[in-house]
Amino acid sequence: MKYISTRGDAPSLTFEDVVLTGLAPDGGLYVPETLPKFSQEEIASWAGLSYQELAFKVIAPFVAGEIPDADLQGLIDKSYATFRHDAIAPLVQTGHNEWILELFQGPTLAFKDFALQFLGNLLDYILKKRDQKVVVMGATSGDTGSAAIEGCRHCDNIDIFILHPYQRVSDVQRRQMTTVLEKNVHNIALKGNFDDCQNMVKASFGDQSFLPEGRQLVAVNSINWARIMAQIVYYFYAALALGGPARPISFSVPTGNFGDIFAGYLAKQMGLPIDQLVIATNANDILHRCISENDHSKKELIHSLSPSMDIMVSSNFERLLFDLYGRNGASIKQLMEEFKSGAMHLSDEALVKARELFSSYRLDDEEMIQVIADVFEHTEYLLDPHTAIGVQAARKRRRRQDIPMVCLATAHPAKFPEAVRKAGQTDDPALPHHMADLFDREERYEVLDNDLSVVQKHMQGNIRA
Ligand SMILES: *Cc1c(COP(=O)(O)O)cnc(C)c1O
Repeated sequence: MKYISTRGDAPSLTFEDVVLTGLAPDGGLYVPETLPKFSQEEIASWAGLSYQELAFKVIAPFVAGEIPDADLQGLIDKSYATFRHDAIAPLVQTGHNEWILELFQGPTLAFKDFALQFLGNLLDYILKKRDQKVVVMGATSGDTGSAAIEGCRHCDNIDIFILHPYQRVSDVQRRQMTTVLEKNVHNIALKGNFDDCQNMVKASFGDQSFLPEGRQLVAVNSINWARIMAQIVYYFYAALALGGPARPISFSVPTGNFGDIFAGYLAKQMGLPIDQLVIATNANDILHRCISENDHSKKELIHSLSPSMDIMVSSNFERLLFDLYGRNGASIKQLMEEFKSGAMHLSDEALVKARELFSSYRLDDEEMIQVIADVFEHTEYLLDPHTAIGVQAARKRRRRQDIPMVCLATAHPAKFPEAVRKAGQTDDPALPHHMADLFDREERYEVLDNDLSVVQKHMQGNIRA
């Protein structure tokens, strides 16, 4: 399988090389040249497979022979062995034909573990095979950093540097990163905000000459194709559990960077009968504005109670635009050029297609808190703030009651006690057993000035030989 850039002006890559890269050199994102397609009979034959067996069926065509089948199954098995629930992605019913898909059973309690446990093992495998060492560098406002660290902590050929804004992530989120004491894990608290962290990562990817001879940077944010790929699996898993593919299923997805819901779109293109895909956003609503009124413009960031969806621009949207514009890289290049000014407008044709594929809804904090309270009152099920946004968007945008609606639960409520308390819970939700002592563990991190040369010097001094 070959991977090509959405801007049409970069060399194509193999699967293994696409895993080891970030943005394409032309500024685009890599996507598969062709998508695997499954027949209804084939999908139906997967009913009853375990999550790990199903993951192999869905992922194997993307890897297309670069990794032997037994090794790929081994990587998948290892990645999901760290989850606390045997179903890996269990379903819980919260209303008539309304289901919660619990994607927070992994080690850091957010859905990002699905992709990053797998990506960590995959990188380890590829690097060992090639006898190569790399440096993972990423910025985080919370969930990505801990999931990436958890995914890479056992990878000897990786040094991972995660930058978080000093004193601006929650205590739980910080400790999930800084209490990982393996020698290849390097936490940096940057005296700046999340944008400063991200700019530093971008600048470092742009000019990697500060790295030791023979090392390169690898991206673990959702521009990495392997992350998207791993997330396609749970759409198939949920649909099969609820009677698919004989009947269609709908999904509602709390959305930030558009990685998670883009995986749902891919599942649909690959043959899974999906009726609705609902984009659920908080007050940072660029995608809702785009779908509802063709207003894809940057607005100032709003700090919400669902911080993992606080974004100004959804980078993976470019992957969808590539399809909406007939996979014409030149059009995307032009469109993204237009967007540099801060706004872009979709063509009529692209907008019509986008609206056929997606519905959207936006909630502010007040409405979200009400949803947590309501759902708890009627079911005694406690939602996290991101998931609550998905549940309400599903309820507001649902077209047919006879089609199961699956709301993706992207985080465990214990990660976001502030929102949960505001929804009337008097006790903070308990951390799961394996994390109960999180606040007693030793922490290690470096506080650094918001200065590129300071950060790069620190990295040079800490990259292991
Ligand atoms: C990252 C994250 C999201 C947003 O997912 P995208 O793939 O960026 O759209 C939603 N909820 C939680 C809890 C997250 O950590």
